[in-house]
Amino acid sequence: MKITAIEACVLTVAPPKPMALDFPHHKLVVAQIATDEGLQGLGYSLVFGGGGAESVLAYLETRLKPLLIGEDPLAVEKLWEKMYRGDRGVRRVGIAGMALSALDIGLWDLAGKAAGLPLYKLWGAVRDSADCYGSGGWGNYTEKDLIGEAERYAAMGCRYYKMKIHHPDPEANRKRVAAVKKALGPGVSMMVDVNQKLDLAGNIRQAALLEEFDLVWYEEPVNSDDNAACAEVAAAIRIPVATGENHYNRYEFRDLIERRAARYLMPDVCRANGYSETLKIGHLAAAHGVRVSPHVVYELSIQVCGTLANGFLVELMDWMPPDLFEALPQCVNGSIRIPDRPGHGLALAKGAVAKYRSG
Ligand SMILES: [Mg+2]
Repeated sequence: MKITAIEACVLTVAPPKPMALDFPHHKLVVAQIATDEGLQGLGYSLVFGGGGAESVLAYLETRLKPLLIGEDPLAVEKLWEKMYRGDRGVRRVGIAGMALSALDIGLWDLAGKAAGLPLYKLWGAVRDSADCYGSGGWGNYTEKDLIGEAERYAAMGCRYYKMKIHHPDPEANRKRVAAVKKALGPGVSMMVDVNQKLDLAGNIRQAALLEEFDLVWYEEPVNSDDNAACAEVAAAIRIPVATGENHYNRYEFRDLIERRAARYLMPDVCRANGYSETLKIGHLAAAHGVRVSPHVVYELSIQVCGTLANGFLVELMDWMPPDLFEALPQCVNGSIRIPDRPGHGLALAKGAVAKYRSG
């Protein structure tokens, strides 16, 4: 089998309210890989908030696509290495990592289809469904928005809910967490997300105010470039730290692990150089007794949790409109059944490209 063409584009999609208060739109850089045997692979990178999507598309089109045309798509590891090592002076993080991710996901989709297997079974399955947590609670939400969203996820059976703690006053954040906890009751555990907004002292003060809520984790406390500071926070606070959504490869995750900077790692398959690298990160974490809870794109991440014994929860943000993907996997009783369809099991809905294409 040979790759004959790759069609790539940017789709711009608006989430519903209240998420739209913080993000008017998200963008997906989509790559559809065609072969001489008629099989097609779909890959994409979600560019959360949309910034940089056009640059991801340009890198994919101009630097990575030419490396794949004419190649056997089943040689995924070989092609990953070819793309990863293609530009010596460009680090495969950020823009380049997201472009590589979209193509790697598309290659794995093809491999699954060629084998007639869903990816998690091709890789060796450990479970047929992935538990999820409801995620949101953005900084611009009113308390009513916050509780409304948390209760909506709880009504879907989610036993976990994660919210942002973005207010500059740590006591204001404590009050918001307390209000949600009271509304949800003891059946739903909670996590909080700092999104890199605090320093060491700020995190120590904030985490101390949240200890009473028995949180599952305390996420991304410091600038994600600074693993040393993250390790200092992890050693200084009593809530387990989670991080990794802005880490891009096995080396960055190895450093987090060696520094004991987090008890939960959160690779994003659309940032961390695709499924290929995410699985390596997951296996590395397993060797250190660290759990993996992949970042967003739950519809892709369920395949990762389906094959990693140390896979924990996928992150459910149900922001996508119903006319974007066909048969988007759904949360039932707090869990998402992994599709039986070959590959990752996702296909763009008819008319989705025409409706959402922006570049
Ligand atoms: Mg986060």
